[in-house]
Amino acid sequence: MPISENLAAIIRDLPEGVELVAAVKTRTIKEIEEAINSGIKVIGENYVQEAEKHYTAIGHRPNWHFIGRLQRNKIKKAVSIFDVIETVDSYELAVEIGKCCQRIPKTISLLIEVNIARESQKNGVLPENATALIRRIADLSYIKVLGLMTMGPQVSDPEELRPYFRTMKKLFEQIDAMHVPGVEMRYLSMGMTNSYNVAISEGANIVRIGTKIFGPRAKT
Ligand SMILES: *Cc1c(COP(=O)(O)O)cnc(C)c1O
Repeated sequence: MPISENLAAIIRDLPEGVELVAAVKTRTIKEIEEAINSGIKVIGENYVQEAEKHYTAIGHRPNWHFIGRLQRNKIKKAVSIFDVIETVDSYELAVEIGKCCQRIPKTISLLIEVNIARESQKNGVLPENATALIRRIADLSYIKVLGLMTMGPQVSDPEELRPYFRTMKKLFEQIDAMHVPGVEMRYLSMGMTNSYNVAISEGANIVRIGTKIFGPRAKT
């Protein structure tokens, strides 16, 4: 199916207040432009180098979210492109992001990535450490914490993710209730092609979708 039709179907069924991020890894500039012309307002990038090419061609018409693993040597470039970095999981990373933003200067929005299923190989702060991390990051300049993000484990049935999404929402509400100065719990980013409907029903207000917009990715 063409990107425009895929997107029309997704956008039609998306509840109000839920933001759609197009996860564009491996996609061409032409495909991304088609998505933008079909209503996409936020681009999600996994790789800074790929993002740089896309950003140079497309410019700042959409918003740009970083959703991959951010390497130290890419932070400077990343903060010049992205409006939101969704994958912050350590104080040290937040400090470096803040320093690079100070040089521009700009204030960048961050989501804290949570390893909700406590998977050993996964990025993200463990849920029990999220509160302390956010309290520390809140004191930094040039950054603003706006919520939480999670990937969740790979499962065949998205219903298996429901308890994790539910725990994320509870954590989100707990942190919100702490009223940490400088922290605003506005966004809960969870759910992808196979799981976004479950995620939305458990409180996600950002979903990150690739395959359902653009079709299957070529195996690399
Ligand atoms: C690729 C990716 C997505 C989208 O995955 P699909 O299954 O293609 O929808 C969402 N979030 C992150 C972090 C990704 O890397």
